[in-house]
Amino acid sequence: MLLRHTPIEITERTALTINPAKTCQPIGAMYAALGIHGCLPHSHGSQGCCAYHRSALTRHYKEPVSASTSSFTEGASVFGGQANMLQAINNIFTVYNPEVIAIHTTCLSETIGDDLPQIKKKAATEGKIPEGRYVISASTPSYAGSHVTGFSNMVKAMAGMAEPTGKKNGKVNIIPGWVEPADMEEIKRITNMVGVKTILFPDTSGVLNGPLSGEYKMFPEGGTTVAELKSTGDSKGTLALGEWCSADAARELDKKNKVPCSILDMPFGLMATDRFIEALRTIAGVSIPEEIAHERGQLVDMISDMHQYLYGKKVALVGDPDQLIAMTEFLVAMDMKPIHIVTGTPGKKFEKRIKELTKDMGCEVNVKAAGDMFLLHQWIKNEPVDLIIGNTYCKYIARDEDIPYVRWGFPILDRQGHQYFPTVGYKGGLRLLEKITGVLLDRKDRDDSESKFELVL
Ligand code: SF4
Repeated sequence: MLLRHTPIEITERTALTINPAKTCQPIGAMYAALGIHGCLPHSHGSQGCCAYHRSALTRHYKEPVSASTSSFTEGASVFGGQANMLQAINNIFTVYNPEVIAIHTTCLSETIGDDLPQIKKKAATEGKIPEGRYVISASTPSYAGSHVTGFSNMVKAMAGMAEPTGKKNGKVNIIPGWVEPADMEEIKRITNMVGVKTILFPDTSGVLNGPLSGEYKMFPEGGTTVAELKSTGDSKGTLALGEWCSADAARELDKKNKVPCSILDMPFGLMATDRFIEALRTIAGVSIPEEIAHERGQLVDMISDMHQYLYGKKVALVGDPDQLIAMTEFLVAMDMKPIHIVTGTPGKKFEKRIKELTKDMGCEVNVKAAGDMFLLHQWIKNEPVDLIIGNTYCKYIARDEDIPYVRWGFPILDRQGHQYFPTVGYKGGLRLLEKITGVLLDRKDRDDSESKFELVL
């Protein structure tokens, strides 16, 4: 009983978070920056922050994550970090020569009030940014928002790199949100099948799920190129997948460069994928390709084959808003009952959307934005569930309460596979369903009496 101190009685807490369901903003900013080809993320703060952010990403993706830091000490903390930042820009371009430095702030530099746009301007004026190289920045104070907000802020900074030429490039920008590198690959496979030319940004495929080649490369092969980012201002439209991760960047491109945008849900599960494919099909002006119809049919087939084991099963979910919205819709569509849903990211509109998606489920739903895993555990104690879906930290609740559990989301620190096998699209839906039915049937096999222990399920 690792969480033996979690009481069943729920008391109102307004100034205390226990076992947060989020992590700090710069981790999201760093992950987004790694999706630019030849980019070095830079943490404007103390070394400890940067070490933590890098290790959090390395533990999840099982890949080395390079990033630099302004290495604040007492002096920078008192007098501001401008001198450190200018020195860092000079050192980074001299030693590592990245195409882009993507700077994010930390709690400390935000509290001091360092003005990154002004420091960047000074660096450019002093000739510290070589020709053809770029410095972008995002404000990511960790005492507000979450890793999702940090991701969104850095993606918005990427959208700021657009340099429209006035000549349309015939492409569609796709902003995938914080999904796995394998999901980004899958989104590219789907858009290729539909026949839409795209610019996907950020794109961490080939960066955080690359092969072991035996050859060291400071900057991996993958990532959205600078040329592509500049060209986003000439695209005919933007599809932003997820209100929380991607919408701000899409709206920025719309506002500054008149690239019209549509905000969709992340394409997890049947219906959200249907809407994504329909949006692509409409843009391309084509009918749905046979291969896609085939993959959809396979997912529908598996849902109907497994429905008897899914029907009425109660589920607890924890994760990030964009993922949870799509997952809730998927579960409800399969007649499952997601009854406890928590995200650490603030935003009342999340609660509203979940309530809408679950309104016909015929039971009460507990949902909380800016919630924590302590509360989720209390809800589970009060109304037990058949399944938990969430990140690695759920393993404590799953073990204590003896509940089947599917790892999905960020971070996953104790398993492999999430970088390589997508969960977006119809193929990804098959994988999600395989994982869900796998743990439910394992539990049935464990608990069934001998007379009910079946060879064929
Ligand atoms: S000080 Fe702030 S930015 Fe740094 S690791 Fe802690 S929460 Fe994150």
